[in-house]
Amino acid sequence: MSVAENYKQIRAEVPEHVTIVAAAKTRTKEELIELIEAGATDIGQNYVQEAVDMYTSLPAEIKSRVRWHMIGNLQKNKINKVLDFCDLIQTVDSYEKAVAIDKRALAKGHKVAVYIEVNIGDEEAKDGIPPDYEILKDIVERVALLENINLEGLMTMGPFTMEPEELRPYFRQVKEMFDRINELKIEGGELKTLSMGMSGSYKVAIEEGSNMIRLGTILFGARNYNK
Ligand SMILES: *Cc1c(COP(=O)(O)O)cnc(C)c1O
Repeated sequence: MSVAENYKQIRAEVPEHVTIVAAAKTRTKEELIELIEAGATDIGQNYVQEAVDMYTSLPAEIKSRVRWHMIGNLQKNKINKVLDFCDLIQTVDSYEKAVAIDKRALAKGHKVAVYIEVNIGDEEAKDGIPPDYEILKDIVERVALLENINLEGLMTMGPFTMEPEELRPYFRQVKEMFDRINELKIEGGELKTLSMGMSGSYKVAIEEGSNMIRLGTILFGARNYNK
């Protein structure tokens, strides 16, 4: 099946309230254009230089149809570049990083939406804050006060090697924290989006309350990093 057919099929399959972010790392310009023309609304990028090159190469009329998300680990010295084209940064993993984004957003004169990344139990992936409610609450309360970023959600990856069913308790734990934070009604800290689930795990993630899934392989086919 083509990229367009894959997208349309999955879009028809998942509930309407679930946003699909196409994880575009290693994909070509032609693949992205096909996907956007098929109706994709959101594109996620991992690597800043690859993302900038892709963004620059796409026709204005195409790239303005979608929201651009940063879903890869973001180094502080790359924040300015990301703010030039991203609408949303999903990988805020410390208060310090949020402050750095806030400062640069102020200098650029436009706000950016951010999600806090929660690391659910993967020993190897260092990214994200620990899956601890008190730690999350503390960072949400402080990030909510920053004026040039809009805190809008949480993002989580999950241990890579697990079967989807084994991920369920991890997803459930993040959803519980998401709900508890929202019960606090922190001004500026209302979480609307829970970004969790990838090609192998999106069904379980949606069952556990995800309203944003990030899909690569299932839309585009297997990745080839040596292209
Ligand atoms: C690559 C990637 C995805 C998508 O992974 P697939 O398993 O190919 O669907 C989702 N989220 C992040 C952060 C990624 O880097």
